[in-house]
Amino acid sequence: MKTQKYILGIDQGTSGTRALLLNDDWEIHSQGYFEHQQYYPKPGWVEHDPAEIWEKTKKSLAQAIKNAQINKSDIKALGLDNQGETVIVWDKNTGQAIYNAVVWQDRRTSKMADKLKKDHGKLIKKKTGVVVDSYFSALKIKWILDNVEGAREKAEKGELLAGTTDTWLIWNMTGRRLHMTDYSTASRTMLLNIHNKKWDKEILDILDIPLKILPELKNSSGVYAKTDPDCFLGLELPIAGSAVDQQAALFGQTCFEAGTVKTTYGTGCFMLMNTGDKIVNSENGLLTTVAWGLDDKLTFALDGGVYITGGAVQWLRDGLKIIDNAAQSETMAKAVEDTGGVFFVPAFSGLAAPHWDQYARGTLIGITGGTEREHIVRATLESIAYQVNDNLKVMKKDSGMDIDVMRVDGGAVVNEFLMQFQADILDIPVDVPAITETTALGAAYLAALGIGIFDDLEEIAKKWKLAKRYEPQMSSKKREYLIGRWQEAVKRSKDWAKG
Ligand code: ADP
Repeated sequence: MKTQKYILGIDQGTSGTRALLLNDDWEIHSQGYFEHQQYYPKPGWVEHDPAEIWEKTKKSLAQAIKNAQINKSDIKALGLDNQGETVIVWDKNTGQAIYNAVVWQDRRTSKMADKLKKDHGKLIKKKTGVVVDSYFSALKIKWILDNVEGAREKAEKGELLAGTTDTWLIWNMTGRRLHMTDYSTASRTMLLNIHNKKWDKEILDILDIPLKILPELKNSSGVYAKTDPDCFLGLELPIAGSAVDQQAALFGQTCFEAGTVKTTYGTGCFMLMNTGDKIVNSENGLLTTVAWGLDDKLTFALDGGVYITGGAVQWLRDGLKIIDNAAQSETMAKAVEDTGGVFFVPAFSGLAAPHWDQYARGTLIGITGGTEREHIVRATLESIAYQVNDNLKVMKKDSGMDIDVMRVDGGAVVNEFLMQFQADILDIPVDVPAITETTALGAAYLAALGIGIFDDLEEIAKKWKLAKRYEPQMSSKKREYLIGRWQEAVKRSKDWAKG
């Protein structure tokens, strides 16, 4: 009998952490998943507990191993992806975070971002590819240094380390030895110069962030270190791949050619288009980002991000309490013919690409006496599709390329209503792959490439399998009407928090 070997992919997401064990045939052999608590200490603030994230990562892996019923020694490598711009600053002597993780959705640095954009926006965009916004890590690091007592002093003395959740997990997995991040994650900080692949001294000076608290920059694939068995469930595994979640998903979807696109439907929605070795500057508010660094060469992507999509479904469950679980949103949406004229713009923490209005807030409009829960649930799902469409439109414009199909993944693609509505609104087919956990899969592919299981990207591309294609069915008249109404609703959500 053939001995199976397994690659571990860990997806450290916003809602929770997932561990996947993939077998030789690149099928999911087993998995583990644990949510972690979301903290909202003030309006617009979002935090996680870094210690909980580390614990839940180990728990989800322990669950995956238990479900797998395999020998630990059959796991050959680990790859991980992370939730992105979320920042943790910790004391390297005690291993304790000096403040909660400040999550990518957090808007506490909005005012700081406004000023920075005014003073240095052009320079920062040119160097880093990103539009100045409180979304990125840089101002969150600055906020912690400025607001936690004694932090700046400790940072200057070299006692603090900063990083995103990949950096935090790798540091813990390696017995507090390795302080690193990969180029794709670094490109989300607003501190990486994407032209020379280095932390940018000028921007660091402007923000007064000491270089020494930042992690070492590495390729997205390659053996970085081994996990320390004393800290990591007795495992001594090569950590051989790391990328930020959206980029890991682009890799997992094997979008290796310039012009290919994927959208991930998680808490937020992220559309990425591979632009090859070209840095494409967006005229329409999209970001230029690093897709991955391989063999010290960067591949770039255009990025359209929507903050709240699946997060709005969570809000229906936890905030409004009109659904018991996310899956119920589908049956409820299908129970009505349309939204009854209701539109919902879930701009809970502002609007990202292509609108970039950090003062926009959630707007539910078109309500009448006849509006029922089902209409609101349906409008919530439809809002996801409209937001993705807004991004696709500008992506086409900026790249000058036609997009003829969209590959999709993430937690919400099991929702058939949403996927069909998405194809209808985009007017192109939407392809769901056999494995929709493409973030963890991409991380595992990067690790497999890192230890030499694959020789090149072409070999990986052959592994992609289609599960279901959704063809557009809506008339163009109806589509245009709906998109027009959506645009009207978006207008009304803008600037609200300025008042
Ligand atoms: P993340 O990586 O951001 O934590 P996931 O990819 O795990 O996100 O997806 C979880 C998100 O998907 C949650 O916000 C949840 O509300 C949403 N979701 C899960 N299942 C469904 C469904 N059947 N319909 C709509 N949304 C869903």
